[in-house]
Amino acid sequence: MKITSVEAIAICIDPDPSAAPVMAGRASGELDDTEALRMRNLARHQTCLVRIETDTGAIGWGEGQEAVAPRVVKTIIDDICAPLVLGRDPFDIEAIWASQYQFLREAGHLTGFYIDALAGIDIALYDLIGNVLEQPVASLLGGRMRDRLKVYAGIGGRQPDASAELAAKHVDDGFRALKLHLARQTNDQIVEIVRAVRSRVGGDVELMVDVHIGKDVSEAIKLGRRLEDLDVQWMESPTAPEDPYGSADIARALDLQIASGEWLRTTWQWREFLEAHALDVAMPDISRSGLTESKRIAQLCDTYNIPVAPHVGRGGTIALAATIQFSATIPNFQIIEHMHQVHEQRSKICTTYPSPVDGEFLVSDTPGMGVTIDEDAVRSYAI
Ligand SMILES: [Mg+2]
Repeated sequence: MKITSVEAIAICIDPDPSAAPVMAGRASGELDDTEALRMRNLARHQTCLVRIETDTGAIGWGEGQEAVAPRVVKTIIDDICAPLVLGRDPFDIEAIWASQYQFLREAGHLTGFYIDALAGIDIALYDLIGNVLEQPVASLLGGRMRDRLKVYAGIGGRQPDASAELAAKHVDDGFRALKLHLARQTNDQIVEIVRAVRSRVGGDVELMVDVHIGKDVSEAIKLGRRLEDLDVQWMESPTAPEDPYGSADIARALDLQIASGEWLRTTWQWREFLEAHALDVAMPDISRSGLTESKRIAQLCDTYNIPVAPHVGRGGTIALAATIQFSATIPNFQIIEHMHQVHEQRSKICTTYPSPVDGEFLVSDTPGMGVTIDEDAVRSYAI
């Protein structure tokens, strides 16, 4: 079997005009240019899909996630990856990953967009092989260790009452764990919102807080102590992503978990954070690292006794499905992320796809990744 086609398709799915904003922001008149750009990017679903086909007609779909400039990933796949992958046997997944990684290693392309591109191809190859063997991808990754995955839903907010209302709605929908995205807010503002949500949903709902790399070490420690009083499970991305030692100081000072690492794409990057004891929960993003490298990352984390809570954040439905298959197969799984408010928007490229039931994902045992792609829909969203 030989790979005869590698196609990258950058897509953009605009939100339903009647949909509530993903992150409840300030009134648009108050937004500066950076904030307005950020809100526009959050509202749109942009990513780069990958379609691989063989000489036998087998097809696999992948996703290399890049929410702001997916055409960068497409160009890398078109110009660099596809020539390296065409003609190869799709079963040579790790060899294909290694030859692509090696190709631009000396030039310093060790992370970022380049690894996003490799991730998209890697996921597509797993889907393709699963389809050929009529096996779910989890079976190709070593087999499942669980059939159900605990889910947390992400919500935003800048107003305590609105956030509490949104949280209550998610709890009504069956979610028992919620993550509050509280970027670019003071410690007092964050605590006020978390207190309102905690008081509204009660003590049985697990709460996490993501401060999106917004604090210095001292402010993060002070915030973490106040969040501990509100029984917050983890504080996420507390400080600069370039500073594992500052993150380690925060982790050492606090009892709540420090969850981190969505920006780290390879084991070589993860090693520095793990050796520094910079985090308590690892958050690899499967649509940035791919399945091959994410399995290695999970194994490396396990040797440091660190649980894994895969980041899905900006990923689309293929990324989510790949993350579900991956999460079923690792010993150190903690919880999986889900963006419920935009699930239908992001799933417009599929006719069947995973959705949470009572706060859990059931791991699909249909062949491949467990989604059915509507190719006409994909092409209608191409940019
Ligand atoms: Mg995050």
